[in-house]
Amino acid sequence: MDAYKLVTRSDHPENTVVSVRGVDIGDGSFTVIAGPCAVESREQLFASAGAVRAAGATVLRGDAFKPRTSPYAFQGLKEEGLALMAEAREEFDMPFVAEVLDARDVALVASYADIIRVGTRNMANYSLLQELGRSDRVIMLKRGFTATIDEWLTAAEYVYNEGNHNIVLVERGIRTFETATRNTLDISAVPVVKRLSHLPIIVDPSHSGGHKYLVAPLAKVGLAAGADGMMVDVHPNPAEAKVDGAQALLPTDFTELMGEMNRLAAALDTELS
Ligand code: PEP
Ligand code: MN
Repeated sequence: MDAYKLVTRSDHPENTVVSVRGVDIGDGSFTVIAGPCAVESREQLFASAGAVRAAGATVLRGDAFKPRTSPYAFQGLKEEGLALMAEAREEFDMPFVAEVLDARDVALVASYADIIRVGTRNMANYSLLQELGRSDRVIMLKRGFTATIDEWLTAAEYVYNEGNHNIVLVERGIRTFETATRNTLDISAVPVVKRLSHLPIIVDPSHSGGHKYLVAPLAKVGLAAGADGMMVDVHPNPAEAKVDGAQALLPTDFTELMGEMNRLAAALDTELS
């Protein structure tokens, strides 16, 4: 018995293109998703969203439910955060992605978000994956930080098998013996997944490296390796961020990165979208 088959290229040689509010992920261009790690306030969210939109990002990120290592850390604004994201979507004309932590919240998150993200800690939460497989939203599935590529694709199969074929995979780094980085971005996963699966794959240079100075090099290597896009944390005041400030780019850093990415994309005969 094959652990997964529907997400493989064997019966589906052509690439899946996931379309969400006019943005096509997996169409050969490099889709830029950016925004704050967590929604903290309207002011913080709108500052980040306006800046990333102006720099060329087409999808907004911002979480209302945060999976924190400590139960005492900021857990997210919950429905209030989703409502702010929906306001930002209208204001900046960008679809948005937000994480869901629990199967009980799928309906709530789906009522606001265009794309629902499964984080690294929930990649193997099979009842959550099945619930998302019955949703009509795009699902973004992060790789578990201890998961093999086979285990990750098997997790995607759980969603696909329930009928939801709009899945975007995210390589976000795996746990290795290295401690200089938060996790090790497994860049090989991009061509390996491209070979095995028809689903789009993007990279997360923010959560993998865990440090601001690593975001630009990891983003560029993702583009060069053939990823379908990236997702980047941008915060107007990283020093005050409630979550993941060390890896957040300032809006000005993000604008500079986008300039470099545009030049690299042109050299690679592709474009940012
Ligand atoms: C995130 O993208 O905010 C996040 C929590 O990422 P990960 O699940 O990869 O740690
Ligand atoms: Mn984060």
